[in-house]
Amino acid sequence: MSTRIKEMRVREFNIPLTEPFTITLGTTYKAENVLVSVELENGVVGYGEGAPFVYVTGETQQTAIKTIEAAKSIVEGKDVTQYRAIAEELARTFRVQTAARMAMEMAILDALTKSWGIPMYQFFGGVSDQVETDMTIPIVPAKEAYEKAKHWAEQGFNHLKIKVGTDLEADVERVEAIAEAAPSCHLKVDANQGYSPKQALEFLSELEKRDIAIELLEQPVPHWDLKGMKFVTQNSGVPIAADESVFSSRDALRVALEGAADIINIKLAKASILDVVNIHAICQSYGLGLMVGCMIESRLALSMAVHMTAGLGGFSYFDLDGFLSLAEEPIIGGFKEQAGVLSVAHVKAGIGAEPKKE
Ligand SMILES: [Mg+2]
Repeated sequence: MSTRIKEMRVREFNIPLTEPFTITLGTTYKAENVLVSVELENGVVGYGEGAPFVYVTGETQQTAIKTIEAAKSIVEGKDVTQYRAIAEELARTFRVQTAARMAMEMAILDALTKSWGIPMYQFFGGVSDQVETDMTIPIVPAKEAYEKAKHWAEQGFNHLKIKVGTDLEADVERVEAIAEAAPSCHLKVDANQGYSPKQALEFLSELEKRDIAIELLEQPVPHWDLKGMKFVTQNSGVPIAADESVFSSRDALRVALEGAADIINIKLAKASILDVVNIHAICQSYGLGLMVGCMIESRLALSMAVHMTAGLGGFSYFDLDGFLSLAEEPIIGGFKEQAGVLSVAHVKAGIGAEPKKE
């Protein structure tokens, strides 16, 4: 039966959060994502989720929906076995609409691998079938951060990520409280562009004075300030990760050539799927560390990220905890979770996750 795409559909995919999530860039009260499905002539349906977040991807739910509706003329009638050709045409036509493209590419690949009867992690190379995620603690008072860190460490998490970047003193207090509450956890810190280069070094030296070791500091300075990030990278003993500075393989190459960071944080919502593979190759070629992050996403998009990063291999840092902030679970299936370990070993075909109701 034909693997030609009969129809692509899109709808709002709203998911309430357990509590508001605050980072330097703003506060989120609910996930306003989009859900795409592609139906093939053989009856197979593939699903994809996009997570537009105006402060990061420059898209909103409504612009993502309009993009996907406009892309129907490119996608419908094509054969999913031509995934790369379709994805390249989408990238040319909708260059900056990465969250919308992420949803469409995901749905196409889900339909393709379901039709072929292989799990998605094998499509990407099958290096592994599981990853271990951290849990993120947002910008909250130190006392609350202490309680949260204690809770997640008791749940078996070995990795915590801490949001900072609004007030240096409060940031240091928060990290100190978390280090005390969860002494066995590895800590990552994410400033979401909130510091100047000098503040970033001051922050790191305050941690050093307190004997607090962290694995990495993510995006200390504004995304456009590569020179500032290079200054922090060259003058700090802690590895520096670029997140908002890298949306594309072109950005990744610039970071690599200029030595502006030690690690690149890849997200499907920033680069879509096609270009994540390119960024992965650049990082491996230049000896940069690989991290994967997420937006506030359901188990559908997060399972895709698990398949992709486990399948490609080479990633050292995983921040795929978005599902733990959701007040309800709109997805059936997906990865199995045990104390932060996300496994897709049981998946027989595709992503293995679908919405409870389409
Ligand atoms: Mg980040």
